[in-house]
Amino acid sequence: MQGLKTIENSLKVLTIDLFSGEVTSEIVPKEVIQRFLGGKGLAYFLLNRILKGKIPDPFSPENPILFMTGPLTGTGAPLSGRFNAVSRSPLTGLFGSSSCGGPFGVALKTCGYIGLVIKGASSKPVKVVIDGEAVSIEPAEDLWGKTTSETIEALGAKPKDGTLVIGPAGENLVKFACIRSGERFLGRLGFGAVLGSKKVKAIFVKHQNVKILPGNPKKLEKFKRLALKKIKENHFTRLYSRFGTNTNILYSKEAKILPVKNFSQLEAPDLVYKNSGPYIEKNFELKPNPCSACSIACGHKMKLDERWVHVPEYETNALFGPNLLIFDVRKTAEINEICNELGLDTISTAVTIGYLMEAEEKGIIKSGLKFGDAEKVKEFVKDIAFRKTELASLAGEGTRFLSEKFGGKEFAIQVKGLELAAYDPRNAVGHGLSYSVANRGGCHLSAPIFPVEAYFGFMDPHKPMGKAEIVIFMENLFNVINSIPTCVFTTFAYMLEDPIIKLTPPKAIKLLMENLTSVTKEFLNISIYKGLFEGASGIDLSSKELLEAGERIHLLERYLNVKAGLTPDKDTLPERFLKELKPVPLEEMLTEYYRKRGYDPKGAPKEERLRRLDIEVY
Ligand code: SF4
Repeated sequence: MQGLKTIENSLKVLTIDLFSGEVTSEIVPKEVIQRFLGGKGLAYFLLNRILKGKIPDPFSPENPILFMTGPLTGTGAPLSGRFNAVSRSPLTGLFGSSSCGGPFGVALKTCGYIGLVIKGASSKPVKVVIDGEAVSIEPAEDLWGKTTSETIEALGAKPKDGTLVIGPAGENLVKFACIRSGERFLGRLGFGAVLGSKKVKAIFVKHQNVKILPGNPKKLEKFKRLALKKIKENHFTRLYSRFGTNTNILYSKEAKILPVKNFSQLEAPDLVYKNSGPYIEKNFELKPNPCSACSIACGHKMKLDERWVHVPEYETNALFGPNLLIFDVRKTAEINEICNELGLDTISTAVTIGYLMEAEEKGIIKSGLKFGDAEKVKEFVKDIAFRKTELASLAGEGTRFLSEKFGGKEFAIQVKGLELAAYDPRNAVGHGLSYSVANRGGCHLSAPIFPVEAYFGFMDPHKPMGKAEIVIFMENLFNVINSIPTCVFTTFAYMLEDPIIKLTPPKAIKLLMENLTSVTKEFLNISIYKGLFEGASGIDLSSKELLEAGERIHLLERYLNVKAGLTPDKDTLPERFLKELKPVPLEEMLTEYYRKRGYDPKGAPKEERLRRLDIEVY
């Protein structure tokens, strides 16, 4: 490290206008970081200021897309390589954020920027190149049509260089097209299509050889050590290092939350072992494929027919696996690789195909897609990306669109247009609440309460008691996590390794969580997040202020989405979860949630609360 150039922990945001070609930058005042932290929060602060109350069409040049890192990025804090994208989603019509751990975030920070805003649109394919202070918009006709990995290769990117690229799906405006960054993905919400609508094939950031100076190095060092110790100690985190997110396959089977046959069954057959983490470890050569700056490394690659491919993440493996009755990780890995190369979000793709398979079985839509037929799935995935057939093109509009056009809304597994992840909420009802109220649609990461209910038994998975309060707490906390930013999987280590949790018998935790939720949540220790943020930014906040920042981000996102057309009737679940097998008691939890969030009858945050939180209202 000796002799390495040092730079400040940047608060500079770079803005590129594709219409005029103008490149500008501004320094974000520290007070904004105090209120919005960075990452997702900072992106929403800037978005609100850019839009000033106007709601652009997702594919119009007026819809900006913001890529934002935060104070932790590039400082060497554990799991600090993540960044967020925020825009209006073509899939849901709502504003939302998507998180990724590819090398883009750290590379951008080494160039002296905390974030990048892309405005306007180009009429011809372009790539944006950032090399330190030099920024250029260059023709990219030669890249158009290439797959995601071909594009990264053609850019000549080294492993630490930051890339954001789209595949053919993004070019063809498939509404759930994703963005690739190195070997990781900004999966959800169709932001690949937003870049495609702007004719941006790639953003290439050359990593600079610099050391980023944190605001309070001593404090950061102290909390880095503590965080790493907890990560090493935590059992679940160790399972993730070893088996990746596919750890969840057998846990979810046991808890009866693993999706089977388009979420029509709660019991998964023993065959799912062939999709599980232990099976993958036993039968394949593996190597780590982590996000930048990660010491857990839940991502892996596997050798499949002499080729290194991504091990499909739990969501992908479960949704293309048991949910389509494909009990073979070889097949789900092959389908995953096609999605990755063509630039498709695997969750939305798999759930859309699940809907089509059930529609075929019920005689509603003739697609030829049948449960268990992996070869047909591979073919159809390619057709979606290239909009090759009429039906595949319609499928590229998402599950909600298909069910509104053809019927079968009751088995269209989506909320607010966003397809659900691989956790059936009927045996984790609080998670059902979190799906229903998530600002970006059926999101499993806005308040992932399923481990608390279904894996660890800290709350009854079927009772509504205390769920609204915990979902609100988690929504606020996960906004903090996505804004400072770090990885959501740190919660296992940073919170469960707290002595209060470790020394309290699970039965007592359950009793307290369900009956004294307001008091119990005060004991949930967020001091590591606070310490890391303070160390990296040099800004001190109390735990209350930190969580209040999380609430501020949540309410700003909700406020913008109400302006974009979100109404309370959209805070619901697919009919299947409300009527079949073990219905989720949603109404009771929802009423409580609305009351505690302080939403008005239109589902909007009260203006008085927005003003008190210092949110600009237009
Ligand atoms: S734990 Fe997994 S998802 Fe989180 S930062 Fe590490 S590799 Fe990425």
